[in-house]
Amino acid sequence: MKKLVDKVAIVTGGGSGIGQAIAILFAKEGAKVVVADIDVIGGQNTVDKIISLGAEAFFVESNTSDAKEQEILVQKTIQKYGKLDIACNNAGIGGSSHPTGDYPIEDWDKVISVNLSGVFYGMKYQIKAMLENGKGNIINMSSILGTVGFAQAGAYTAAKHGVLGLTKTAALEYGTQHIRINAICPGFIKTPLLDKSLNEESLTYISSKHAMMRLGTSEEVAQLALWLASDDSSFVTGSEYLIDGGYTAQ
Ligand code: NAD
Repeated sequence: MKKLVDKVAIVTGGGSGIGQAIAILFAKEGAKVVVADIDVIGGQNTVDKIISLGAEAFFVESNTSDAKEQEILVQKTIQKYGKLDIACNNAGIGGSSHPTGDYPIEDWDKVISVNLSGVFYGMKYQIKAMLENGKGNIINMSSILGTVGFAQAGAYTAAKHGVLGLTKTAALEYGTQHIRINAICPGFIKTPLLDKSLNEESLTYISSKHAMMRLGTSEEVAQLALWLASDDSSFVTGSEYLIDGGYTAQ
């Protein structure tokens, strides 16, 4: 039995990596998926993959760091499918690597605007639509770096910690209104984001920091997102879920 039949889901950053895997899995499980991304080719590619599976999706070009575009994304979702049940605020960037004392202010602003403000802007409009729907489910993409530090990644680490604070606060606010809000904290996952920022030697070193001595896959993260999005997790809200091959166990 499919787990998301008749559900309508937005997945931001759905054009690549973890977001693409989540969008495809949600669609396979019966959801109508709105794939949002700044990358038109990547986003359309995800939609094409979903349609080729006989499932339903459409693409909206949308920059999560722009509040107006997030409002329009929700409006377009309602226009097309009539409601919003699930939102996965997944879009994110890595940012540059510098010690905190040298971190360029413009790089800080960019990472915070996409990885933290982007999640807030999304939730602001998604929650309104979900209140009208009488229920909803939000999944925010944090990281292991929402729970521990990582040298030279102050902006990313601060943003991902912020996502957890926002997730818990909103969960407290809307728990009685049937909106569940949770966060996922992946370890290092083999996606274009990692390939862009780390060379082969660094990837081998990073792999060795996980108890399982390997990187995760987008599909593994998508399985956790599906559980959170489905009624299987009906008593779960305000929680952060590590999926990190044991990275934070030590
Ligand atoms: P990715 O680079 O493969 O995909 C990210 C997608 O987000 C891309 O399609 C990109 O175009 C889109 N995007 C970027 N900025 C955007 C914006 N302003 N508006 C809309 N879309 C935007 O990255 P990924 O590894 O799949 O990462 C997805 C999420 O998972 C991010 O939030 C990332 O921080 C988080 N995460 C990744 C890892 C990892 O190791 N890959 C680990 C922990 C958390």
